[in-house]
Amino acid sequence: MNELSQSVGVLSGVGAQTLNRLEKLGIRVIGDLIFHLPHRYEDRTRIYPIASLMPGMMVLISGWVEFVDVLPRGRKSLVCRMADDTSSITLRFFHFNAHQHNQLKPGTLIGCFGEVRQGFNGLEILHPDYRIITHRDVDITESRLTPVYPLTEGIGQTALRKIVKQAINLCNKNTELLMDWVPEKVLKQHAYPTLAAAINTLHAPDEMISVEALQNGNVPALKRLAFEELLAHHLSLRTSRNKAKQWQAPCFNGANQPIVIEQFLKTLPFSLTGAQQRVIKEIEVDCTSLQPMMRLVQGDVGSGKTVVSAYAALLALSAGYQVAVMAPTELLAEQHMRNFSVWFAGFNTQVVFLTGQVKGNARKEILQGLADGSVGIIIGTHALFQESVNFKRLGLIIIDEQHRFGVNQRMALRDKGQQGNMRPHQLVMTATPIPRTLAMLQYSDLDVSIIDELPPGRKPIITSVIPAERRVDVIDRINSWVEKGRQVYWVCALIEESEVLECEAAEKTAELLTLALPKIRVALIHGRMKSADKELVMQAFKNHQVDLLVATTVIEVGVDVPNAGLMVIENPERLGLSQLHQLRGRVGRGDGDSYCLLMYQTPLSDVARQRLGILRDSNDGFVIAEKDLELRGPGEVMGTRQTGAISFRIADLARDADLLDTVHEIAEDIFTNSPQVIQPLCDRWLGASTDYAEV
Ligand code: ADP
Ligand code: MG
Repeated sequence: MNELSQSVGVLSGVGAQTLNRLEKLGIRVIGDLIFHLPHRYEDRTRIYPIASLMPGMMVLISGWVEFVDVLPRGRKSLVCRMADDTSSITLRFFHFNAHQHNQLKPGTLIGCFGEVRQGFNGLEILHPDYRIITHRDVDITESRLTPVYPLTEGIGQTALRKIVKQAINLCNKNTELLMDWVPEKVLKQHAYPTLAAAINTLHAPDEMISVEALQNGNVPALKRLAFEELLAHHLSLRTSRNKAKQWQAPCFNGANQPIVIEQFLKTLPFSLTGAQQRVIKEIEVDCTSLQPMMRLVQGDVGSGKTVVSAYAALLALSAGYQVAVMAPTELLAEQHMRNFSVWFAGFNTQVVFLTGQVKGNARKEILQGLADGSVGIIIGTHALFQESVNFKRLGLIIIDEQHRFGVNQRMALRDKGQQGNMRPHQLVMTATPIPRTLAMLQYSDLDVSIIDELPPGRKPIITSVIPAERRVDVIDRINSWVEKGRQVYWVCALIEESEVLECEAAEKTAELLTLALPKIRVALIHGRMKSADKELVMQAFKNHQVDLLVATTVIEVGVDVPNAGLMVIENPERLGLSQLHQLRGRVGRGDGDSYCLLMYQTPLSDVARQRLGILRDSNDGFVIAEKDLELRGPGEVMGTRQTGAISFRIADLARDADLLDTVHEIAEDIFTNSPQVIQPLCDRWLGASTDYAEV
């Protein structure tokens, strides 16, 4: 606890209202202000001669008013002609008052800052920042670049600058506050400035630093902060992992295990791929090692992760432990329920399904069964774990599509099965491929297994990119596809943030397609339907009582209907590539060719065209993720829906990927040589969320 963790309310000019507004920017304590960096800078350190201006320049100029008038032509505007010794330029205001009009009398000296643009009559500046110069000798230049901060409604740039300035002055007075925890040799080796110097530079860079370099993140001060932030996250996850190693866990070595496994493998309608067998071996080792397993299984869509998790469940059951399976959506949980019910039908245990919607006696019975141990496997969404569910002997937690859950949720779950020093094993699965370096950071608390092989017989999905104008052709294609006895998905992707709009769009589309395709049985599924209704629709589609399923992106994860070999995705340009790849993974599960039609709205930007091209040309989730990262930056790779993604204040994984190797190296060094800096670093960068390191 020091001044950095004091509320910003102690600063002058920060009342209750400002406090609330700052909170919207994620700023609560003084330390938050320190790391609230400008998103751009303005250079008011020099005065440009007007003759040297070109459109697009952001410049400070100085001169006198030649002429001023209100022009009623078109939109009413106040127009002022300003000159210096070299030339003249127009200043134009659409919002103005009489006072301004009077102030800008001919002959008045003014200084002006703004962006130069091409007007009808030569160059002009729209709504410049300007001030009257009372005396020729007044210097209007600034000695440093001017920071421009991300704002929120009700807080202006000037006000925020003053508040930040106070925070920085505080740090400059008390040098303990920005103590350097990064080992000195690292600073030297990379020519990084001290933390205090970096902070001072970024909030008020001196004129020698170029605005471009700052904006591109290409200055040592910024790199140094990004480095420290990444290091702190990595250290925090690693710490949590080290702590986990000190716990004990059940040993899954039931006496009847070999027989049970044989029986299980016999019920499977296929044999396991080499990759599946390898990952299963890794899980077996973990589950008999007396420390809690913390393993992530990564595998492309359709690589067969579910059966691998079922195998782990089998190990737990045969050793007399219970298993909890958590999925991010009800649809997916229901599907797991179907699979696990079949696979474990021959075993002497109950497989039950629990969501928030299971109520009354049914619920009581399930909770009773968990408490007395007659329920062996429970499957549900995360709601399941927020309830007061008590297990008799929880030995294994399986989390599917881990990227949908937050790190904290994952950690908190472990406590469910806590008994003294014992913790359950944890197996988490994700189909979202992320580039290796990213994975090493994001999952530094987990061991990672990769299923890098698809079951045999899978053919690549043939993807085409088609403009929405060709909708009629697409509909013809659906017709002939259904005539051949096959089924189709039609996915309406809309703005990710709006589930309501997405559902409405899907409803509308279903109506239109029903009209356009009278002979075809059309059904609709979306996230706002009741769970039981969704289940009915999915069952009907599975049983081929429905030919064409119109859906929102709820079917993104897990749905498995082999006869559906054609998917149309509407507005694919609005989704992240990895998400599109996941969606597309719903087809290509049966025999024969399968197709995905990406039907975009015209016009398509160049980048969007390139991105869809990546998807057309590759079926490999990892390749797609890497290329997407090159093109767009990591926010996109992860997809905004991934609550599990770590969000950074300063680091940008696309820009700062080059730091990750050093981060790992230095983290090792810190663990061995200076573990005392771990806690302060985590406190500084993760603040309140550091708690999870303590779980
Ligand atoms: P995902 O990794 O995307 O979760 P699933 O576990 O849903 O994939 O598996 C996709 C499909 O592949 C399922 O129908 C599953 O039964 C099938 N499958 C899994 N493993 C194999 C295998 N070794 N051989 C053939 N089919 C398999
Ligand atoms: Mg799956």
